[in-house]
Amino acid sequence: MRLTCVTLALVVALVLAACTSASRTRRAAPPRPALATTTAAVPASTTTTSAPAPSPTTRPARPGTSAAVAPAASAFHSSVTTIDAATAATMTSSWRPGCPVALSDLRVLTLSYWGFDRASHDGRLVVNSRAAQPLTTVFRRLFDLRFPIERMQPIDAYGDDDASVAADNTSAFNCRPPDGGGGWSEHAYGLAVDVNPLRNPYVHADGTVKLAVSRPWVDRSQQAPGMLHAGDPVVGAFASIGWGWGGSWSGLRDYQHFSANGH
Ligand SMILES: [Zn+2]
Repeated sequence: MRLTCVTLALVVALVLAACTSASRTRRAAPPRPALATTTAAVPASTTTTSAPAPSPTTRPARPGTSAAVAPAASAFHSSVTTIDAATAATMTSSWRPGCPVALSDLRVLTLSYWGFDRASHDGRLVVNSRAAQPLTTVFRRLFDLRFPIERMQPIDAYGDDDASVAADNTSAFNCRPPDGGGGWSEHAYGLAVDVNPLRNPYVHADGTVKLAVSRPWVDRSQQAPGMLHAGDPVVGAFASIGWGWGGSWSGLRDYQHFSANGH
C-alpha cells in the first residue's frame, strides 16, 4: 500500500511536470502576434531607409544617371538653380529693375551639350522658372541627337545680344525689346532660346541680315552641322514642348529663335 502511494505520488508528480511543461509550451505561443507585428514593421523601416536615396542636390534627367557622382563624359546631366546673390551680381546686362520678370522667377539651367569639338560640355541658360523642366527635356534630346552647339553662356558673358550672336552663343533670358519692335521680346521673360545664332541668323524679308558676320549663313540650302532646318529633329524637340520656331515665320525669319508662344 505504501508502495502504491509512492507510485501514485510519482505518477502525480510526472503528470504535474507534464502539465507544467505543456503549459510552458502553450505560454510560448502568444509571442507570435508580437513577432508578426515586428515583421510587418520591416517594410516601413525599409521605406524610411531608402527614402534618402534620391539625391536632393542633383536633378538627374533620368534615374539611370543619378548614381554617378562624376557622370561619364558622354552622359547627359542637368541642374536647375535659383538666382543667388552672386549670380544676380553678374547679370548687369541682361536684367535691371523694371524688367517684366523678377529674378526670383528665373532659373539657371546647367546642361550638357555636344560641342563642335565632339566633346561634351556644361553650358548655362537663364530661363523662366516654368520653362526649366521642359527645356531640360529639349536639351537632353539635343544631346542624344549629338546636335553640336558652339557655346552656351548667359548673355552677360558678352555684354549684349550682338556680341553673343557674333560668338555663336546659345542663350535665353535677356531683358530687351524684340528686334525692330517695341515692348518686350520673349527673351525678356526667359521664354525664348536662340540656338547657334551665328549660323542660324535673323534674316529680314529682303534677305539682309543684321550682322555682317552672319552673311555666310543666309543661304539656308546649306546643310552644315549646327544649322536648323524645317523638319529637323531639333525643331521637333522644341515643338514637343509646344515651342514655336522663328524659321517657320513668313517674311522675316529668325532661324535661331524658339519661344513658348511662337513669337
Ligand atoms: Zn531669339
